[in-house]
Amino acid sequence: MKKKLLISYAVLSLTFGSASALASEKADWGYSGHQGPENWAKLSGDNLSCDGKNQSPINLTGFIEADLTPLIFDYQQGGEQVINNGHTVQVNYQQGSSITIDGKHFNLLQFHFHAPSENHINGHSYPLEAHLVHADKNGNLAVVAVMFKEGKSNALLAKAWQSMPKHAGEQHKLTSKVNVDKLLPKNRDYYRFNGSLTTPPCSEGVRWLVMKDAVSASKTQIENFESALHEANNRPIQPLNARSVMQ
Ligand SMILES: [Zn+2]
Repeated sequence: MKKKLLISYAVLSLTFGSASALASEKADWGYSGHQGPENWAKLSGDNLSCDGKNQSPINLTGFIEADLTPLIFDYQQGGEQVINNGHTVQVNYQQGSSITIDGKHFNLLQFHFHAPSENHINGHSYPLEAHLVHADKNGNLAVVAVMFKEGKSNALLAKAWQSMPKHAGEQHKLTSKVNVDKLLPKNRDYYRFNGSLTTPPCSEGVRWLVMKDAVSASKTQIENFESALHEANNRPIQPLNARSVMQ
């Protein structure tokens, strides 16, 4: 049965001339079983970085005192669509929002979520973590992470998840654009470390900027996200190796 499905998919892909779609289907990944995180590097030649030495997420601890320059946020209204891609629920952002770090502009591409949190802070896991993914003009990535604790309902989540796409491949247009600035804590202090994408292909060289203060989301909002994903979507903590976390 499985084989038959695979063959018909191959035919479909070839019919539409999409060999790359076939390759990505074969290399599909997940959070449990054979396709789980411990096997990501083996699933495809594209994922070799998943066995790298500078992987995310990590337990942020043993902080090095550094004079971190303030993170400059320049976020506009820009989230228009919410997508369930089977691995997370993501809001794609239109151009025009950015952060500045190391004197470089990084444009906001999208934000998405993990439950429970991927990164830990001083050994503490949170029920939900947002990743705001940015790229500079050379394709270097910077991710701002925001932790959520259970508490008051979150106004931005209420808007972004008003019509939660409940199934993989489902996509909804937001009734009004969102401004991800509303997701940030008031205190903009952050931790910084060098890491990777937390999903295949686990590319390294990613600037990680984890906000020190958590924001809140209601129990219902967290459960609403969990039920759209059907399983926990957090990669386990990775070894720190030769890295340190600055604050
Ligand atoms: Zn993420």
